[in-house]
Amino acid sequence: MSEILNYVRKALVTLALAVLLSVLVLIPDEIYKLVNIQYPPDFDEQIFFILILSYALALSTKGRRAPIVLSGVFLVISGSEILHFEYFGTLISPNEITLLATEIDEIILSLTTMWFEIAVIFVGLFVLVLSVIKVNSLTKDHRLSVPLAAIALILLYGYVLPSRAYNDTSVQNYYPSPSNYSLVNGVKALSWVFANDVVRGLRNEKRVNPHHQKRQPLKVIDLMGDKPNFNLIVVMGESLNPHRMSAFGASRKTTPFLDARIDKDEIYKRIVYSGGMSTKVSIPTFFNLKKYPEDVSALTKGHTNLLRLAKNKGMDTWWLSTQSAGLATYSAQVDRRAFFSKEDIVNTDEKSTDLVLLDLIKKVNLEKPSFVVLHERGSHSPYERYHPDEYDHFPEDGVSTDQKRVNSYDNSLIFSDHIHEEIIKYVEKHSFLPTVVLFTGDHGELVGEKGLWGHSVLIPEGAEVPYIVWSSQSAKHLAKQMIDLPYPTHFEIGRSIAALLGYEVADPQERQGEYFVNGKNLAGTGPFAKLGFDDEKSIESWAVLK
Ligand SMILES: [Zn+2]
Repeated sequence: MSEILNYVRKALVTLALAVLLSVLVLIPDEIYKLVNIQYPPDFDEQIFFILILSYALALSTKGRRAPIVLSGVFLVISGSEILHFEYFGTLISPNEITLLATEIDEIILSLTTMWFEIAVIFVGLFVLVLSVIKVNSLTKDHRLSVPLAAIALILLYGYVLPSRAYNDTSVQNYYPSPSNYSLVNGVKALSWVFANDVVRGLRNEKRVNPHHQKRQPLKVIDLMGDKPNFNLIVVMGESLNPHRMSAFGASRKTTPFLDARIDKDEIYKRIVYSGGMSTKVSIPTFFNLKKYPEDVSALTKGHTNLLRLAKNKGMDTWWLSTQSAGLATYSAQVDRRAFFSKEDIVNTDEKSTDLVLLDLIKKVNLEKPSFVVLHERGSHSPYERYHPDEYDHFPEDGVSTDQKRVNSYDNSLIFSDHIHEEIIKYVEKHSFLPTVVLFTGDHGELVGEKGLWGHSVLIPEGAEVPYIVWSSQSAKHLAKQMIDLPYPTHFEIGRSIAALLGYEVADPQERQGEYFVNGKNLAGTGPFAKLGFDDEKSIESWAVLK
């Protein structure tokens, strides 16, 4: 009996210690969050549970040093992520770990400029590890001792997590998310590298696209003009097919409000090509001016990030999204209080998702020059899912499956048109600074054209998106500047946004009329398309490189 009681007592002590140590390894993030308000991790119960499980195993191993080793590794990962964020303003991606070996000189050079931060983090981590050592030695005789606990722990981190990464075809799922703890981002990135670089490397099955080229990063030149004294709102739509919008000639009246404004000559519009074929690729590609598929440095260095450029010129920056936080990785370089994502939405019917944006825009002080991103859920498939029933102008029931898809897609456009109209009306009423609102889509969408659906095929039609510029009367000259693109691409929209902010973005290896549309992989390891424009700015060639 007393043996059972003793066992229960040890189990409780082990569990309590597991909770304690799990809290302890999250301390660096919690402290850093207070120091740098741009750093946005949120508490996640599921992750906390896995941490407790990991520590319960570590505390129960026969050799009593496992908790120290585990905490040491966790804290080094956490410290590295925080240091990286402090220096670059971004989180560590799997590709960067891969590049570590080739770029080590440059990294060390960067680190020498921040010895103070390094010292603070190092001392902090040292204190935490010392506390773990102390806790460990005080409790070593009072904890469970479970056979095979060490093996289970090694299996979890050395096999279960890496094999999930090995079987996942998309590296994006292993990219860091701003709402994750640094530890989670670090472990995910390491799992990916271990599975796909180390294991695949040993097995000679590493995936690379042979068309990658070594290129120089784009250069940003500050033109030192006046500080921006306007508001710029970028509305990023989802899966937008311009050919189904009446504003671009579709026979069905799917954009009535926009059409009315076109009739009043308030709008500039044209069709452009997106930089990617999926949300995860297009969003960071657009907001970081990532021109070349393999140029991961555009993401990790952040020197061409549009929100960062705006902030450097003194603008308030906002990322207000009804899509997940993970999609904002590398793009949303904003303070936590200026960041909103799907995860923050509570008590809203899914069908009314994008109406949330109309409340969110009220948070922005439009009397101060602001750069606002509104990222919509809009026409994401299944199309019938994200608009209220009163927008069902075309029947979604009692028709064939294909007809339902077409009808519900068109209904989603009618709903988005309403959202866009409300945004413009709000700006008309509340913004006294010159204001430009840009609308585009992250990528195109095939709605039955050539018998194709969705946005997975690398064909030009899949990358065609609407580009619409509205401005207040006092910003007409800015709007004109925004629609005059040298070539109709997302990259050139980004470049003209940078120009509006007072920067020239130069591409040392620029080739007239040559652009890329990245496929499904953000680092360009999968297939991507190279497109060429002729002198009339129409598309002349489209080559899929894989
Ligand atoms: Zn998308």
